[in-house]
Amino acid sequence: MNCIGCYKKIDKDEYCLSCRKKLFDGKRVSTILDFDKPKAENISLYNEYTKRLSISGVQLKYSLMLVGNKLELTEKNGQYLLKPIPAADHLEMMEDAPENEHLTMQIASQIFNIKTAQNALIYFRDGTPAYITKRFDVKGDGTKYIQEDFAQITNRTKETHGASYKYDGSYLEIGTLIKQYVPAAMVAVENFFKIVLFNYIFSNGDAHLKNFSLIRNQFGELELSPCYDLMSTIIHTPGESDTALNLFDQDYESDYYSTYGHYGRMEFEAFAKKLGIVEIRYLRIIDAFIEKKDVVTKFIANSLLSTDVRQKYADHFLDKVQRILSSPNSPT
Ligand SMILES: [Zn+2]
Repeated sequence: MNCIGCYKKIDKDEYCLSCRKKLFDGKRVSTILDFDKPKAENISLYNEYTKRLSISGVQLKYSLMLVGNKLELTEKNGQYLLKPIPAADHLEMMEDAPENEHLTMQIASQIFNIKTAQNALIYFRDGTPAYITKRFDVKGDGTKYIQEDFAQITNRTKETHGASYKYDGSYLEIGTLIKQYVPAAMVAVENFFKIVLFNYIFSNGDAHLKNFSLIRNQFGELELSPCYDLMSTIIHTPGESDTALNLFDQDYESDYYSTYGHYGRMEFEAFAKKLGIVEIRYLRIIDAFIEKKDVVTKFIANSLLSTDVRQKYADHFLDKVQRILSSPNSPT
């Protein structure tokens, strides 16, 4: 069997040692919670013990804390976020949402070395899966690191920019602000570039302003926060646009873009150049997505997605890689 944190082969039905260390301070926490998923009968209990932290579309998050080696719902001092299968009839394949997020986060960290929030799959008592993630803004002593997302940093709110304020702005704007605020700017900008490309290739069309943050580390310096909320959203919202934000501030239309109506290699190279990334570095980042194609497809095949969704997930990934492969390089 496989660990439902990192997919590694293990003998027993539990989290592997490495996942226990990363997620639960080494404690032997069960892969099954000792309470049921939120449903009509116990929703009031949920609401009593938890606060609705945020709603990205329809996804509810519940706050958990580790007491001994048990995870409990909590109102205060939450160390974990739990995301059950969202109840949304208008979205597709929602049963696969927890594993979609878990798989996408694991691919980002294990295959592309992207720093992510620690995460795993976990089950409710009744056997339904949920996604669990450890909060990276909470320190060991319970106090918090200062963190601001890019809607906050750019002062965009519902009041100032309307209901879709999270989707206002561009990735270039975020990248330019990272260069401005983060002392180790070039490392951060290269990572940011890799994440934006990752989101494109894995069909995450919901990487909006609030899904990127700066966090003040233990030395008091700002850095790009670990990634969170990565998933192949196209599985659940097939009609969505490829990206939540445009790459560029103003309309930038290459011949390729105006012909095919989607981004290709040329746009990402132009984007990297605008961020000031040197050619050899951005080419390496782009090419890694092509070189690791087979590793990724094997990883998807080994996931806990349902058979249908596993195929869809892989098809979308291969389709996006093909876009990068078949489109011309940016003129230098
Ligand atoms: Zn593991």
